[in-house]
Amino acid sequence: MASPLRYSNDMSQDFDPQPGPAETPLQQIAEEIRQHGRFLVTSHARPDGDAVGSTLAMGSILHRLGKEVDMVLADPVPQVYRTLPGIARIRQARQVDASAYDAAIILECDGTLRTGLTGLDGMRLLNIDHHLTGIHFGTLNWIDPEASAVAAMVFEVAIALGVDVTPAIATCLYTALMTDTGSFTYPGTSADTFTLAHALIDLGAKADSVARDVLYSVPACRIQLLGRALSRIRIEQGVAWSWITQDDLAEFKATDEDSEGTVNYLISIAGVEAAVFLRETNGGPVGFRTSLRSKSSVDVSAVASRLGGGGHRNAAGCTLEGSFDASVARVLTAMYEEIERAAAAGTVC
Ligand code: 5GP
Ligand code: MN
Repeated sequence: MASPLRYSNDMSQDFDPQPGPAETPLQQIAEEIRQHGRFLVTSHARPDGDAVGSTLAMGSILHRLGKEVDMVLADPVPQVYRTLPGIARIRQARQVDASAYDAAIILECDGTLRTGLTGLDGMRLLNIDHHLTGIHFGTLNWIDPEASAVAAMVFEVAIALGVDVTPAIATCLYTALMTDTGSFTYPGTSADTFTLAHALIDLGAKADSVARDVLYSVPACRIQLLGRALSRIRIEQGVAWSWITQDDLAEFKATDEDSEGTVNYLISIAGVEAAVFLRETNGGPVGFRTSLRSKSSVDVSAVASRLGGGGHRNAAGCTLEGSFDASVARVLTAMYEEIERAAAAGTVC
């Protein structure tokens, strides 16, 4: 059922921060932010648009409140997000010094491990996440699987704290929202999503510029790599799957991030219920970063969780260790079982 609209383009008057006898997680997080001065903001390793945009927006919100802010991501910001306002303020590091902060705000993660950072242990952790597989690992936890992106939750933090959402913040949040909803097409896309998009555009985000910077600025090697992946598609029992090796990446002078999004082409095929895309990992033991997608109610977050990952009902991922053949067998077996389970429940035609 659709939830009541939570955003308005005149938010200062219309936003209702859900008053009630008990403090909501949002109110607790807002209070925690008011009471402390030095914050680390981070998100998951291999950051996507929601991770980057929401980190930047949260950093700016804290900055506008006069807080000391350090934005740190374990992996490089993907090329397409490097035009976002304030991007140079994100630091890439694998380790942080807990004593430098009063608290860490962790966006989009199911545990500290997923940040790719060490040094977070013992810190006050404010966990803000929208994954179905979200875990209460923080000191404070706000997990809202109804939110179409963590950006929607960061927006609510800004409103709860009375921070003006500047055009720069709106641009970061809009980028996060657009990318995390697959340009407003994934199943989590709701009336709330469009109301928030409306509000962000009113506040200065430029939909056409963001689309140009993010969707229409793809390096040529990425398209060549996509061609390789598409040429290998297998379709078996309603599952489309393909893969890319490190040799493929080397051949096209592409990097790991250049295969992101390939899985969306696999799930776009008519008659396919689920898609699996494997990318050989770089260095270390043989393994595969694996992206899962589904249509209808095949729950790929359940498949990913069984294999040590997580995500959303229709978009999830995990890392498989082991040979190509063993990895493919594990993930396809788990996927077929989930499809059978969904079919038995009568949710897949
Ligand atoms: P992607 O396939 O685009 O890498 O990831 C799809 C979704 O699954 C994203 O929301 C992402 O956060 C989540 N996801 C991907 N890999 C992992 C993983 O290893 N662990 C967890 N917990 N979530 C993941
Ligand atoms: Mn997200």
